[in-house]
Amino acid sequence: MVAHCFGATTFTMALLAGLQGVRSAVISQTSAHVVVPAITRLKTGIHLPWLLDELGVKSLTAYVDKNADWKAKLLDHALRLYPIAADEECRSPVCHRITFLYALLYEHAQLNQATHLALHELFQFASIRAFEHIALIANKGHLVAFDGAEGTWIIWIAWRFPSPSFTAPRTPASCRRARR
Ligand SMILES: [Zn+2]
Repeated sequence: MVAHCFGATTFTMALLAGLQGVRSAVISQTSAHVVVPAITRLKTGIHLPWLLDELGVKSLTAYVDKNADWKAKLLDHALRLYPIAADEECRSPVCHRITFLYALLYEHAQLNQATHLALHELFQFASIRAFEHIALIANKGHLVAFDGAEGTWIIWIAWRFPSPSFTAPRTPASCRRARR
């Protein structure tokens, strides 16, 4: 099994919940302990997904429709101001949405033009409730259930990670957090 990003977090949760039949796994970028960039901490800290949910936003997408309503166009204009490294700036509203929704996921220098133009095909609709759960995990710094319950998860994480038969590459910060 090869699992990446929050797919890796989801896979980790499935493992900890007793998923059977997995002999080996490579978990990339994140797992049971989550360390997010400062801008993501800010968005989760102000409970942005829950705020959007209260405003009636039930899903988000990176797809930009040329005939979108004024609210979508306003969002795309606003996202031009979203902070990003100077060498990663571009004029694609799809790209701006991806970075807003998921953080900066790639280096533009590593993408050819065809891939850059097709990004909307890779990032479709995502439920706002999924973002609420991810934000909760990001705020806690480790796995919690959707309702915030964490007792069972912590016991399983302490017991299962790290394990000689399970190697999950982590960032130095998430490694330190896992050892606490
Ligand atoms: Zn771009």
